[in-house]
Amino acid sequence: MAAITLYTCLCGVQKKTSNHWVLAKVSDNGITFMPWDAELARRGDIVVLCGEGCAASMLSRSLGDWKKPAVGVTSVGSITDISAEYELAVA
Ligand SMILES: [Zn+2]
Repeated sequence: MAAITLYTCLCGVQKKTSNHWVLAKVSDNGITFMPWDAELARRGDIVVLCGEGCAASMLSRSLGDWKKPAVGVTSVGSITDISAEYELAVA
């Protein structure tokens, strides 16, 4: 009996026969996008995306995360000023 694997995008869409789906992998060092691969898509560390739109929104979210001030990292110059303002704005 063949197992049927359901792939669901972050937006809730389930993969059917369309083949424009892509994969993404988020690590401590950044985010990687890659072409669809049914075997890779089963892995727990792989994010399944239904197309360019969802890939773009995931990239945009990651970029937003990267803007957060890093703890324990010494910043110099204007970057220090920006993160100081950011913390004040959030607090
Ligand atoms: Zn989607």
